[in-house]
Order: sequence, then structure tokens, then C-alpha cells
Amino acid sequence: MAGVFSKQRTFRPKKKWEKGTLKYDLHKKAKATLNAGLDLKQAVSLPEEEEFNDWIAVHVVDFFNRVNVIYGTVQDFCTEESCPLMSGGPKFEYYWADEVQKKPQAVSAPTYVRNLMTWTEKQIANVELFPAQVGTPFPKNFVPTCKKILTRLYRVFVHVYIHHFDNLTRIGAEAHVNACYKHFYYFVREFSLVDSKEFEPLAGLTIRLCR
Ligand SMILES: [Zn+2]
Repeated sequence: MAGVFSKQRTFRPKKKWEKGTLKYDLHKKAKATLNAGLDLKQAVSLPEEEEFNDWIAVHVVDFFNRVNVIYGTVQDFCTEESCPLMSGGPKFEYYWADEVQKKPQAVSAPTYVRNLMTWTEKQIANVELFPAQVGTPFPKNFVPTCKKILTRLYRVFVHVYIHHFDNLTRIGAEAHVNACYKHFYYFVREFSLVDSKEFEPLAGLTIRLCR
């Protein structure tokens, strides 16, 4: 239902490209391609005249915003008590590590997502890493950082689908999340941005939605 999302209760404030910049235009263009009813496989492929890194940057920011909205819809159900470990079922546990917490550490799901959103915000706000203007060269660590961001965002899908699916259906958010998941999946597959072993916990769902 649109109602759930029209409030746009995001877990974190939305990152926006500034109007008037070429990145903003590219973001609009990516959105327009998607709304034009093209199939997702076509919509994610790199337009001929665009630069690979710009295309990645715009999508990473977009997916960050959308996963934020998705997690926002279940955050009341995802607590230290309900989800003491960031996981995707009993077989998959995700540890957190960053510049401060160097040794990967077991954390609760809400802590993992909070750390992830703070860490990602910091990466995309860093203009050395995510240049605001099209044409500014990207650093060497740009693609590896994007891969890391997308891998971690994918784990939020895993957690939400496996542990909060009932919450999603109850609030009528399932179709929206499925649509977002498909877009995300096609995008990361198109450019091999997430290691295929990460897809394992949602293999069944992916076959149903994406084949
Ligand atoms: Zn949870």
C-alpha cells in the first residue's frame, strides 16, 4: 500500500544530490528509465553515454535511501530482544567491522543496521570518494567501497525477508520491498558488485522473483 511509504518514514534522513548538478540529472534519468516500464534488466544496464562510476554512484545512493525506507517500516519490530544477532536465519550471521571496530564483532540486528547506515552516510558524504560533479575523477577505492556498501545493504534485505516477513505483509509493504529487491538484485548482478555467496540465504525468493 502506498500509505506506508507516502509517509516516507526513513530510518535515516535521505541523501540527496543537489539540484542543478549533473549527478542530480543522472539520478532523475535513472528513475525515469525505471518508470518508463522497461524491464529491470534493461533499466539497470549502463546507458551508452554514461560513465560507469557515475552510474554506480547514483545507484548506491538510491539504494541506500530505499533500504533505509524499508528498514524504517520494520524497525519497531527489530529490537535487541527480537534480533540479538544480525542474521539471515540460523545459518547466516553477519559481523560488523569498520575503521573503529577493526575486528569483526557479533552485534544485534538493530546495531548492525545503525552502524551500517552511519558508516554508509559517511562514505557517500565524502566528496573525495563520491565526487558531487560528473567528470570529477573517482578514487581507486571507489568501486571496492561501493561493493562493500551494497553487500551490507543486501544483508538488510536478507534480515528483513527472513526475520520480518510477517511484519512486511501485515503492513502491506511486501510488493514494494519485492520491487526494490528485484531492482537491487538485477543491478548488482549486472556489474558483479556483490559476491554470489551472499545471495544464498534468499536463493529461493530470488528464483521466484527474478527468473
Ligand atoms: Zn530484526
